[in-house]
Amino acid sequence: MIIPKKSLGQNFLIDKNIIKKITNQIKIENENIVEIGPGFGNLTDYILLRKPKNLILIEKDIVLFQYLKNKYKDQKIIKIINTDALKYNFSMFKKIKIISNLPYNISSKIIMKLIFYNKNISNIIFMIQKELAEKFDYRKKRMNKYKFIIEMCSNYKILFNVSNKVFYPKPKVNSSVVEFKLKNIQIDEKKLLNFINKIFSNKRKNMRSKINYREFINEKILNKRVEELSFNELLKIYNFF
Ligand code: SAM
Repeated sequence: MIIPKKSLGQNFLIDKNIIKKITNQIKIENENIVEIGPGFGNLTDYILLRKPKNLILIEKDIVLFQYLKNKYKDQKIIKIINTDALKYNFSMFKKIKIISNLPYNISSKIIMKLIFYNKNISNIIFMIQKELAEKFDYRKKRMNKYKFIIEMCSNYKILFNVSNKVFYPKPKVNSSVVEFKLKNIQIDEKKLLNFINKIFSNKRKNMRSKINYREFINEKILNKRVEELSFNELLKIYNFF
């Protein structure tokens, strides 16, 4: 018997209807699919039914990796990799789609990594904590660093919410399934991170006290605090940065 590891965010999906609903969100047939953290393969089995061209499984837990190796030993299209998804190089195919019931403790780190990487990823379908899904939602008020990066690099949508009853063990929080359609734009990661760190520090200060190219930015924007800015206003500041 394998005891779920809290340190690896192991909350396994046990509701087949939810699993089916997740895999129905994108075209899988004949696509290159990557699944992060397949666990026992509960989601993987349904991805397989939809006939992907290739299926890459990235599992950090060595015990689950061994289990999956055995479970899928006759599946030619599956490649299983025992590594940390945060360290993995996702450039193996020209175009990939990524699906995951993400480990909660590293969700935002993985999402930022993939969004910055951007190049060959077309769609991402992730189950994440509901609270985080809402924090990313740039249609809602109050700017934050995630919203800015996500709106710049992708079209983001909360697809549906999921109760904590569909997992074993049951997590304390509820979840949402979300989609990122990546815009595949070239991103200067260093510039963007520098900008974000500068502009989102001291959130109570207005823009006038944070930027030194004030003559290019209108008064209305200069008087606002970072959380009050719209995406387009913040983008204007970023473009001069
Ligand atoms: N996909 C399975 C399911 O839905 O039943 C398991 C999902 S569980 C929430 C997260 C999975 O990610 C676990 O199998 C865990 O071992 C794995 N994991 C945790 N951290 C990881 C990392 N850094 N890289 C790759 N896999 C990781």
